[in-house]
Amino acid sequence: MAGIVLLSGGLDSTVSLGLYLEDDTLDLALTFDYGQRSRVQEIKAARLIAAHYDIAHKIISLPFLEEQTTTALVNTEKDLPNISGIDLDNFEQRIKNAADVWVPNRNGLFINIAAVYAENLKPPASIITGFNSEEASSFPDNSLKFIYAINQSLKYSTMQKTTVVSPTSKLTKNDIVREGLRLNIPWHYIWSCYNDQSQLCGTCESCQHFKRALLNNSRQKLVDEIFSDVSQKEGV
Ligand SMILES: [Zn+2]
Repeated sequence: MAGIVLLSGGLDSTVSLGLYLEDDTLDLALTFDYGQRSRVQEIKAARLIAAHYDIAHKIISLPFLEEQTTTALVNTEKDLPNISGIDLDNFEQRIKNAADVWVPNRNGLFINIAAVYAENLKPPASIITGFNSEEASSFPDNSLKFIYAINQSLKYSTMQKTTVVSPTSKLTKNDIVREGLRLNIPWHYIWSCYNDQSQLCGTCESCQHFKRALLNNSRQKLVDEIFSDVSQKEGV
């Protein structure tokens, strides 16, 4: 089965890519530019990761989505949610933070765009996404129910009856890091940060989940390298 991966340059989509490649091939990686603060770093990370795995890479600009997204993920006049480590598992806090970085119909849109590309691939391509079980509770478009629903929809909207596959969808962040270690993903290319600085901020919700999962897998040295070694990133 062929495959198109939605590659943000973050941990989840990279591990999902790696897991899919264990049994299948990938034809194309798609990265979306919708005005997100970290667009430059995300695109750079995705480009490096796609090249690392020798997958063709395409960047798709969605200026209308930038116009329609009012939250802090795009709007720099609003503050990104910053939470302390002890609140990472607070469900109410996560729901509130999700609203602060919400992008309207993002995953539904990305999948439907990928499905257009999938129509022209032979054999028909699956669409690979990097959903995870924890974010599914605060971002419903990361859930197993969403995958099921959009696959039902794609049966009607694509000739190839393209399906969405998410190898990480039942995994926690800790599990995903563990799989990333097993797969030996290129850790120093990963960009899992909401901010637009030259290195991972280490304090946004996304960075904190990433850091905590690395520490839970006893990878303090990797945390030190990823979150502090700017020269290593810029040298690649
Ligand atoms: Zn961050």
